[in-house]
Amino acid sequence: MPGKNLSRDEAQQRASILAVDGYRVRLDVTSAPDPAAAVFRSTTTVAFRCSEPGAATFLDLLAPAVRSITLNGRTIDPATAYDGARVHVDGLAAENVLTVEADCAYSRTGEGLHRFTDPVDGETYLYTHYEPADARRVFATFEQPDLKAPFTFTVTAPAAWDVRSNAVHETVTTEGAARTWEFAPTKPISTYLTAVVAGPYHVAADHYSRELADGTTLDVPLAALCRKSLAQYFDADEILGVTKLGLDFFHEEFDYPYPFGKYDQVFVPEYNIGAMENPGCVTFKEEFVFRSKVTDAAYESRANVILHEMAHMWFGDLVTMRWWDDLWLKESFADFMGSYGLIGARTRYSSAWVTFANQRKAWAYRQDQLPTTHPITADIRDLEAAKLNFDGITYAKGASVLKQLVAYVGSKAFFEGARRYFKRHAFGNTELTDLLDVLEETSGRDLRSWAAAWLQTAGVNSLTPQLTTDAAGRITELAVVQDGDVLRPHRIAVGLYDRDPDGALVRSERIELDVTGARTVVAEAVGRPRPALVLLNDDDLTYCKIRFDPDSLETLRAGLGDIRDDLARALAWSAVWNLTRDGLMPARDYVALVLRFAGREGNIGVLQSLHLQAKTAVDLYADPAWRAEGGRRLADGALHELRAAVPGSDHQLAWARFLAQTAGGAEHLGLVRGLLAGSARIDGLDVDQELRWALWLALAAAGQAGDEELAGELAADNTASGRRQYTQCLAARPTPEAKAAAWSAVVDSDELPNALVEANIAGFSVAAHRDLTALYAAPYFKLLERVWSERTIEIAMRIVAGFFPRAQTGEPTLAEADAWLDGHPQAAPALRRLVLECRDDLARALRAQACDRA
Ligand SMILES: [Zn+2]
Repeated sequence: MPGKNLSRDEAQQRASILAVDGYRVRLDVTSAPDPAAAVFRSTTTVAFRCSEPGAATFLDLLAPAVRSITLNGRTIDPATAYDGARVHVDGLAAENVLTVEADCAYSRTGEGLHRFTDPVDGETYLYTHYEPADARRVFATFEQPDLKAPFTFTVTAPAAWDVRSNAVHETVTTEGAARTWEFAPTKPISTYLTAVVAGPYHVAADHYSRELADGTTLDVPLAALCRKSLAQYFDADEILGVTKLGLDFFHEEFDYPYPFGKYDQVFVPEYNIGAMENPGCVTFKEEFVFRSKVTDAAYESRANVILHEMAHMWFGDLVTMRWWDDLWLKESFADFMGSYGLIGARTRYSSAWVTFANQRKAWAYRQDQLPTTHPITADIRDLEAAKLNFDGITYAKGASVLKQLVAYVGSKAFFEGARRYFKRHAFGNTELTDLLDVLEETSGRDLRSWAAAWLQTAGVNSLTPQLTTDAAGRITELAVVQDGDVLRPHRIAVGLYDRDPDGALVRSERIELDVTGARTVVAEAVGRPRPALVLLNDDDLTYCKIRFDPDSLETLRAGLGDIRDDLARALAWSAVWNLTRDGLMPARDYVALVLRFAGREGNIGVLQSLHLQAKTAVDLYADPAWRAEGGRRLADGALHELRAAVPGSDHQLAWARFLAQTAGGAEHLGLVRGLLAGSARIDGLDVDQELRWALWLALAAAGQAGDEELAGELAADNTASGRRQYTQCLAARPTPEAKAAAWSAVVDSDELPNALVEANIAGFSVAAHRDLTALYAAPYFKLLERVWSERTIEIAMRIVAGFFPRAQTGEPTLAEADAWLDGHPQAAPALRRLVLECRDDLARALRAQACDRA
């Protein structure tokens, strides 16, 4: 569609001549409960100025039909002015009023105004999601972050519904079965941050107030919302408790009163991402409402997201990047604040930095070693590129680098810089230099060279210790060797670890220093006894891959689980995983480490990532000849630890889920079936609804779940979650028919909502079914361009990444991927990027397999 992929040049051109005074947006969603109604009425009136009278411009709009266009009283024919993506207008005056009336479509892909019908009670729920550029699916807009304006929304909806938006409502008028909500004008915000939520949502209301420095009181009405049928599981007190701690903390740190009035947090169905920071109306995926027992890692993750979104109220919403090149300005900061805030706000999640080091950084390491990696400050030419940039660099690496920046300039200078940044740029837009300016003022340091090294170059360094000792076993030299395409300044701590009398590995020395260039000598280490373990980047101050000297690696092989400190142990786990991914440690050795020490891993989040990684090691990185053996060992280990775990503990639940993921043999599957039937019991293990689905998935993938049994489970749990998991179970059955049905449901039709697309892909892609899915490698490469052009970008991304034949870990698949890339140089850059990344994952798997075979 022409004009759908707005370019940076076009946005710059538009911003250079336009200033927007305000939008009035009227939406009529009274038709939403009728499944046959495909569209809703949308009327936008935008007032804007033009510095070049007579010029032409366009609004963005993706709508099935435009009914009328009026510019300054002049009627414009939609047949000539609307091309399917843009409303073109010319002859602009200095001051303009433009009205566009359109029929916009209810969405099933999570982009625009998403509509969901609850199978439990038949109720309909709506919510919007726009970032980066889907407001144009709901109203006519100048869809770019730097044309901020106040928005006044009016929404007509079924009378029984609650309707929310960024601002509070001012009046509500009921007329028959419909009710009209008039909202107050928002502060000036970007289009992608506007929001409307409508439906018979369950509401938990609360209140936050605070004395400000000027003696006034800040009052913030709070609300947490979810679907009615989830209300019985909704722990709003916990959610609102974290919310209040966060508001206290950010007010102390940022010294700028919360600018958006009220604070709603809405947990919405079929959400594509974790959450979105719409000012005053944050949306979250409703999987954060826990229907069954989850581990504390899930609670921590939710609290982290609550604080991440809250930090955005300042970094992102109050001050916004000019264009998507500087997306990191808000995401890196919010991602850092999610973890920093969990500690600083004194929530009960005291291991936030352990999670960050072990899990969040794993995302960054993976992304930063792909051929498509990019500097944190990116070069984003258009919206498709922007869409793909919500990645491990923009979030996790950026946050890691901010953590390093805090170590480099000190937290005092860092936060004083943030305070100045908010005051100086409130309700405006910024670029990298604006942030560097305030940080240089407050730290007194030149940050341009730091920024050039850390923000404007790509790739991860590895740091390796080199150790020499004398005959008495004393260190004669300890050096840190830095590798990588770009060498960077690193502020790091070096930990020297030894066995204590109980046999635990504990830190005997901590040396903090600046590492620069290819080789840095740690002068302070000279003369000390050789330690059992040298841990570089102890305390996780910088962003790097940690390597070991040969003796330290031996210490880890024999005693990784003996490291007493949670963060140090998490860093060691992360480092051996990087060695495995890099083909420097055989996958079976990594699996052996997990089997030996995971049972003692105290941190539940770390344990869950070990499970994920051990399974990946067997499925992708192990020699195929050893795969079956590796899988058996994992399942045996899971069963052993499940029986040994403390009854009712999070660890017990995690091992039960891991057993479900690895079960293959008769003994394991027999227990799985017994747990479902109630004929087998593990003391303290509650086989609740979500665990039941995990167990059914194991049976389905093994070909041991009957159609009637699965249908029976769905009848007992006919909910949104139940339908999703039922769909995944069907697609996970090991038959050609099941795979064909899942493939076809996703590829041959666009009827399925996003959540069921995902469920089909997940079920289809069971790694052990590689013989069955091998048939789909060739069709996959044939359908790529059609999928990219016909589907929305969200769904296309899922299909391209999800159906890549990653389980076919052989040279022929690599050759097929290369042939497609060679044969399609003109394909959309964003599509090529996705295929290149999958191709690179496969090449990495082959290198790791070669290491495992050797
Ligand atoms: Zn964010």
